[in-house]
Amino acid sequence: MDLQIPFDNSYAALPDKFYTRLSATPVGAPRLFAFNAPLAHELGISGLDDRTALTQVFAGNVLPDGAAPLAQVYAGHQFGGFSPQLGDGRALLLGEVETGAGRFDIQLKGSGPTPYSRMGDGRAWVGPVIREYLMSEAMAALGVPTTRALAAVTTGEPVLREDGPLPGAILTRVAASHIRVGTFQVFAARADRDALQRLTDYTIARHFPDAHGPMGLLHKLMEVQAELVAHWMSIGFIHGVMNTDNMAISGETIDYGPCAFMDAYHPNTVFSSIDRQGRYAYANQPPIAHWNIAQFASALVPIMGDEDKAVADLTEAIKAFPPLYEAAWLRRFGAKLGLADATPDDRPLIEDFLTHMAQEGLDFTNTFAALPDVPAGLKDWARRWQARGPDMDLVARSNPQVIPRLHRIEAVIQSAVTDDFAPFDEMLSVVTDPYSQADPLYTARPAPEERVARTFCGT
Ligand code: AMP
Ligand code: MG
Repeated sequence: MDLQIPFDNSYAALPDKFYTRLSATPVGAPRLFAFNAPLAHELGISGLDDRTALTQVFAGNVLPDGAAPLAQVYAGHQFGGFSPQLGDGRALLLGEVETGAGRFDIQLKGSGPTPYSRMGDGRAWVGPVIREYLMSEAMAALGVPTTRALAAVTTGEPVLREDGPLPGAILTRVAASHIRVGTFQVFAARADRDALQRLTDYTIARHFPDAHGPMGLLHKLMEVQAELVAHWMSIGFIHGVMNTDNMAISGETIDYGPCAFMDAYHPNTVFSSIDRQGRYAYANQPPIAHWNIAQFASALVPIMGDEDKAVADLTEAIKAFPPLYEAAWLRRFGAKLGLADATPDDRPLIEDFLTHMAQEGLDFTNTFAALPDVPAGLKDWARRWQARGPDMDLVARSNPQVIPRLHRIEAVIQSAVTDDFAPFDEMLSVVTDPYSQADPLYTARPAPEERVARTFCGT
C-alpha cells in the first residue's frame, strides 16, 4: 500500500481507563466521494494516488500502518442533565500525526459499534456526513477554529433511521484533539483523581504548554471559548447542541449535528428539533458556554486540594468569562462595521443595527455583506456610522458573501441520496471561498417553500 500516514500516537499511551481499543467494522462496498488532498498534505500523508488504499483506509476496512484505533470515553451534560458515561459511540481515533502546525487526531466517524454505542448502531448516514463536511470546511475557510474533514465514503450499506433505510457513510475528521469538557467530567464522576491529574497534565502539555495547573487550564479554556463563541455569533452560526461532551478543550468547533447558519436574523433562533426549550438558541450560546465552563471547573475540584477553598477559587475564577466574551464580541462585531478599535461606546451602534435586522427579518449574512449599502430605514444610523469613520477594507474582510445555507445543504443531501455528488462538489468549492461573490443559488435566502425550519441530530 502506497498510502502512508505518519502516526505518532500519544493518547493511546494513556492508561486503559481513557478508552477501549478496537477496530472499525468493515463495510461492503465503500466509495470515496470526498477527499481533502490539501489537508492530507498538511498532515504529512503520502501515497495519495493510491485511490483504492484511500477508500479502504477511510472506510475502516484496512488499518493503516502505525494506527492504534480506540474509542475514547467521556461523560457529559446533555440539555442540562448529566450522563455519567457517554464516549465514542460511533467513532474511532485512528491515531495522531505531528505537523509543523501541531498535533492532530485522525478519527473515523460512523465506523461501527463500540462499547459506548448504547442503543445506537455505530453508523452514520450520508446526510450528516455531508452536513459536517460542508459546515466544517466552510468554518475553516471563514477562519473559525474547527475540526476538519479529511475524507468521506459511502459504505454501500444501508443505515436504518426513522424514515427507513438511508445510504451509510463514514467521515474522517481531523481535530487538534477530541478532549472535551466531558472527558474531564467522566473521571470527576468516578472520583478518579489519578485519571483527572493525568488528563490535566496531558491536556496542558498538548494544548496550552504555558498554562500552570488546573487553574491555568481553566483560564485558557475561557479564553478560547470566549473567542470561539464570539466568532460563531459574528457569522450567525448556531451550534445547536452545546452539550458539555460537544465542547472541545482546544477551542475548536466540534460535533456538527443540528447546527445551522441563520438566514433571517433573530436572537431567539433555534433549529434543532430536540431543543424544545430553546436552550441552545443563538443568543443563549454565550451563557451556555459559561455554564459549560462552570461544569468544567467543577470537574477540577478533586485535584485542587482543600475542597472548600477550591470551590471558592473556581467560583471566583469563572467570573472572568463574561468580560472575555464581551471583549471578543465587541472586536468581532466592531470589525464587521469596519471599526478596528471598537469600544463599549460603540455598542449602541452595533446593537441598533442588529435590532433593526431583527425587526425587519433581514438576512444576517447578506445585510452585512451588502455594506457599505445600508438597509432602507437606517438613514440616521448610517450618518452615525459614517461619523465613526469605518474602514471599508475591514468591512469587506470581516463579512463573508457566502455561508453554507441549510436549504442548500439539504438539496445537496437529497442529490447524494440518489447517488449524485456533483452538487456536493460544487457547494464545497463555493463555501470554501466565502469572501468572493457567489452564484445567487448560494447567496439567496431560501424561498418560503425551501425554508428548513428544523434540523435533526441526524445520527
Ligand atoms: P452527539 O449528540 O452526536 O454528540 O452524540 C451523543 C452521544 O451519542 C455520543 O456518545 C455519540 O457517540 C453517541 N451516538 C450518536 N449517534 C450514534 C450512533 N448512531 N450509534 C452509536 N452511538 C451514537
Ligand atoms: Mg458529540
